[in-house]
Amino acid sequence: MKAKRFRPYSAANIDSITQLKRLPKSQLREMQAVAKILPFRTNNYVVEELIDWSRIPEDPLFQLTFPQPQMLHKSDLRRITELLATETGYSPEQLKSEQYRIRTAMNPHPAGQLQLNVPEEEGEVLHGMQHKYDETVLFFPKQGQTCHAYCTYCFRWAQFIGNKELQMASGEVEPLIRYLDRHPEVSDLLITGGDPMFMRSSVLRRYIEPLLRHRPGNLQTIRIGTKSLSYWPYRYLSDKDSDDLISLFHEITTAGYHLSIMAHFTHIRELSTLAVEAAIRRIKETGAIIRCQSPIVRHINDDASMWAEMWRREVQLGMIPYYMFIARDTGPKAYFDIPIAETLKLFSDAYRQVSGLARTVRGPSMSAKPGKILVDGITEIEGEKYFVLKMIQGREASWVNKVFYARYDPKASWITELKPAFGERCFFFESNGRGSRTPLKQLRNAAMEAIPEAAISIHRK
Ligand SMILES: *Cc1c(COP(=O)(O)O)cnc(C)c1O
Ligand code: SF4
Repeated sequence: MKAKRFRPYSAANIDSITQLKRLPKSQLREMQAVAKILPFRTNNYVVEELIDWSRIPEDPLFQLTFPQPQMLHKSDLRRITELLATETGYSPEQLKSEQYRIRTAMNPHPAGQLQLNVPEEEGEVLHGMQHKYDETVLFFPKQGQTCHAYCTYCFRWAQFIGNKELQMASGEVEPLIRYLDRHPEVSDLLITGGDPMFMRSSVLRRYIEPLLRHRPGNLQTIRIGTKSLSYWPYRYLSDKDSDDLISLFHEITTAGYHLSIMAHFTHIRELSTLAVEAAIRRIKETGAIIRCQSPIVRHINDDASMWAEMWRREVQLGMIPYYMFIARDTGPKAYFDIPIAETLKLFSDAYRQVSGLARTVRGPSMSAKPGKILVDGITEIEGEKYFVLKMIQGREASWVNKVFYARYDPKASWITELKPAFGERCFFFESNGRGSRTPLKQLRNAAMEAIPEAAISIHRK
């Protein structure tokens, strides 16, 4: 495998990508305008090995990392392109205020990412951690809060635009260890970002080694969420510290922990290069298991046969299909939107084409405020159509595996757009607007928006 040196591209040097010269100047200007609002970053592997430049702009891999004009409202796009084209130069203040206005309108923190689920112990808020579901704690190492390229549909886009207030990250592992020790219910640690695999292996070591030494609480599994296999497989092959990284993986599994790489694969083309195949092989040799997940989005992967082929390919390469997500209601969601009904059809059409070994995939699933909500099917009762929904992860453990119904709506694309079935006024996990009382148990998540327990008991049948 020939080594490759990582070369990032951003809004500042987008002009140096010669392949882009095929596009009309006006479109390039529009892309630059979008890049002023939403984060843009790609690299030489994506440009040279993933994108099919003969098919731009429709090429799914081009859509995956390059800003598309339609990601902004027409009027906002016009406003920014005009501003950038001002002969006399625009004032930075003017641009700033436009950025602020447009970004705040784009729901930068879907499902209350910033405020909710941040644990607090003895009056200390544990920054860079989230604990929403009993068995799994999320940890955001400070140096892993960027990626080798950015997905246009990224739900964490707000943290990439440099506003420190929007970031959630930790530089220390000791508070995490103390927390795990005090929370025996936690079996899984999910190290996430951004992309933790963006970190140098020596930095990742500073987080992992203390865990292996202290063996806190009842920790069994270390998961690492990453898109590096898609965006920079050389991370595992020919970077200066690739060998050390592979050793570290070995050390984790040798210590008796399950190491699960939660790989984000959006499109089968990401599984088509020699580099990705070699990287997968090297990771698997350490005893780690690779599980695969991705959102389904318009313009990139709204194609059932592609999904079927991708899941089969994942199995063939020894990986496990895990989740298909519905894209969160944030950022340029309108551009990527697929109605729930259509998503379900795409999922089912793909699911039918694969063997049981690929049917480990679950979905389509929404990571919403109350939990992960699986869209399980559409049913008809007395001539009326309903969505059959299932809570597969819940803020309250008692909610897990609960089936519930919503009125069928062919246009709805997120749980908040759905209405409960059978004339009920709210879903079982929602407030009914009456008096609220924060249950003691939820003080664990002091900063989270409390869901009044009253509402829960009232709606328990
Ligand atoms: C998805 C998710 C997890 C992990 O859930 P699994 O179903 O165990 O993979 C943990 N925490 C949060 C906040 C999540 O969104
Ligand atoms: S890999 Fe994940 S965090 Fe990084 S840009 Fe893509 S969606 Fe966002």
